[in-house]
Amino acid sequence: MKNKGVLLVVSGPSGVGKGTVCQQLLKAHPEVFFSVSATTRKMREIDQEGVTYYFKTKEEFEQMVADDALLEWATFCDNSYGTPKAPVLERLNEGTSVLLEIDVQGALQVKKNYPDAVLVFILPPSLSTLEERLRNRGTETEETIQVRMKQYRREFEQATAYQYLVINDDLSKAVCDLEAVLRAEQMRTERCQQIIEEVFE
Ligand code: 5GP
Repeated sequence: MKNKGVLLVVSGPSGVGKGTVCQQLLKAHPEVFFSVSATTRKMREIDQEGVTYYFKTKEEFEQMVADDALLEWATFCDNSYGTPKAPVLERLNEGTSVLLEIDVQGALQVKKNYPDAVLVFILPPSLSTLEERLRNRGTETEETIQVRMKQYRREFEQATAYQYLVINDDLSKAVCDLEAVLRAEQMRTERCQQIIEEVFE
């Protein structure tokens, strides 16, 4: 019997810095497996096949869905994103913790199918901070800023379904908070069968 890995699912609105928080956690914890998603969206300059995503055609993605090869999947802005199931389940069975950085729809699907999953929502210190960041980027019209803010509010409403909230005001504190969640969840009695057996051997 092995200790079970934690399936840690992180979501949050774009611009909140969840990618950076996750990267910092992985840097400090190379033993955690980061699940690389499959997507039909076009590659961006910073993307690397197999590192940021596995890039798929629509047909390839549909085949993965038909083969039940995805743990969860979601479509937004005409692009589909999904978590390849096999690598995640293999790692968890080995006792390795797994980090998923996915959207709210996907996270809720994971929680439904894997109630052991631990959901963490990253919040900005205030909604106005996000609005300010968007404005400062200078890439959005006032109309798209308002559409995005409405979308953010809807996402925040779903945050109540998450077990933990991490406020990304200060990056190193946010990383520490996420680490604390991971550590505490790894120490839950029901995940520690191996330790219990060793102690009582
Ligand atoms: P981007 O296209 O900017 O890389 O990602 C857009 C959104 O897709 C982000 O909110 C990200 O969390 C989400 N996402 C990335 N991979 C997955 C996945 O495998 N499943 C789901 N449901 N969402 C994902």
